[in-house]
Amino acid sequence: MVYSDSVSSLPRVLLIGAGGIGNPFVLTLARAVRAGETSKFELMIVDDDRVELENLHRQVLFTDADIGSPKALTLARRAREIAPELETSTELTRFLPDSALGFASSATLIVDASDNFATRFLAADACFLAQRPLVSAASVRWVATVLASLPAGPCYRCLFEDLLEGPAPDCSTAGIVGPVCGVAGALAAELALQLLAGQTPSHNLFSFDGRSDTLRTRSFKPRAGCELCGSAASIRELETDRYAGQACGEYE
Ligand SMILES: [Zn+2]
Repeated sequence: MVYSDSVSSLPRVLLIGAGGIGNPFVLTLARAVRAGETSKFELMIVDDDRVELENLHRQVLFTDADIGSPKALTLARRAREIAPELETSTELTRFLPDSALGFASSATLIVDASDNFATRFLAADACFLAQRPLVSAASVRWVATVLASLPAGPCYRCLFEDLLEGPAPDCSTAGIVGPVCGVAGALAAELALQLLAGQTPSHNLFSFDGRSDTLRTRSFKPRAGCELCGSAASIRELETDRYAGQACGEYE
């Protein structure tokens, strides 16, 4: 179900995940809108979760009064409170294989702020197949990793190849550090604003280490054997079994 405050023909930024990275991302993006630093767009937020007390230290736009409320709706409302001119819509669902391509195709730019590897690979595959730019932001313990991938590549799989066999470290097993999420969200917003302005970021990969307070900026290159964007790519459609990884919640 779509909850929308507008019927919009504006460029659409699709945010996957209204959690620890989605919150600072929206804060930065909405303030940029309010300051007139970007042209008009619609922000669509996809998330099926509800605000919990233990979220509040890193999900900075939520308050005690929001506990129990849908994160997507609450985050969209906060965005409009910061920037009343911002148009928003929400989908209270997870980003899953049967809807991923439709979501990606409907958007101008996708920002993946999800909390698990399976969704990150799904978002990357859907964006490449739909030929949409992707900003992917992740935070595990003290390290934040944020990258931008354009339709021409290189893609997310050029760098990370595939889901690990067996359990992989994520927010549910390795823990999460609130300020590092904040850095990830801010970096994602910076990349998104550049892409919305039609600019190609000078670097497409950011890695922040909160223990040493160091930020590395690099540019990753296409990988010849990439399963998604390489010359003999094998991924040509979204198959549910490919995204069977689990993290902060399992696919049903
Ligand atoms: Zn690739």
